[in-house]
Amino acid sequence: MRLITNPADLPRTRGLFVPTMGALHAGHAALVRAADAMRTQYQTSPPIIISIFINPTQFNDPKDLARYPRTLEADINLCEQAGGRPDDIIFAPEVETIYPSPPKRPTPVPPLPKVATEPRLEDAHRPGHFAGVCQVVARLFQLINPAAAIFGEKDWQQLQVIRAMTAAARAAGQIQPDIIAAPTIREAGGLAMSSRNIFLSPAEREQALALSQALCDASAQITPAAAEQAMRSRLESAGLGPGIQYAAVRHAETLQPLKNPDTVPTPPTPSTPYRALIATKVGSIRLIDNAAWPAR
Ligand code: AMP
Repeated sequence: MRLITNPADLPRTRGLFVPTMGALHAGHAALVRAADAMRTQYQTSPPIIISIFINPTQFNDPKDLARYPRTLEADINLCEQAGGRPDDIIFAPEVETIYPSPPKRPTPVPPLPKVATEPRLEDAHRPGHFAGVCQVVARLFQLINPAAAIFGEKDWQQLQVIRAMTAAARAAGQIQPDIIAAPTIREAGGLAMSSRNIFLSPAEREQALALSQALCDASAQITPAAAEQAMRSRLESAGLGPGIQYAAVRHAETLQPLKNPDTVPTPPTPSTPYRALIATKVGSIRLIDNAAWPAR
């Protein structure tokens, strides 16, 4: 793989793009493998471009940004093991490259879609986060001009925001990549992999298992209200009650609440079921997780 920092060295062929903030783990490796598997769909067998950029504008907590893990050497190895070819690229730009001051040419950032501002999920608990995510993704798309970009379902609301952002840009006549979703990769006990998991103490790691267990409990309930109650009960039993930010069942795409949470819902269409989503603090670490609801 080639490590580059200068956008002028990016390939001309429209590649398969995996945006990350580094500190890569098996979840990221799965995105690279998904990109590798997609190459055959293109006549050009395009290169994979993995960006490693800790985007300052999406952090609403300066301490979180300061302590975000930085592991570039290990990240390169992991990408090579996940199917990276010699012509694949790790793009690790400087902040000044992404946000030159003064800007060299404007980055078209469409207005934030409703799914980034209305659901009262991540948008409520991380003000400004999706504005930063949309800003950096639009800028990276502008520099890389990928054919497709792969995002993890782990960050479900982010995935919906990116889909809505690219749909709006496409409707406005801009060339946009296909947005591909990859399923969440979990540790053996069910904990969703995250770059922040390394900050969990052994006791917190044990408590954190309650997130995936809560999603599992929710999937056995037949109404959204019962599912939300089941998630809360599980998190509270694990001692996570005070840290709960949300434990909600929503429409999978819009992330709007269901109209009648006490009744058994009909899926809007088979391909857009509902989603159960959780955010909770475990000690000082904020974790999120989600799953299809009810279980498919
Ligand atoms: P991050 O480096 O945390 O910004 O994540 C970069 C990409 O990896 C995003 O599309 C995430 O949704 C995805 N990702 C992070 N953790 C996982 C996971 N456990 N399984 C699948 N994808 C993940």
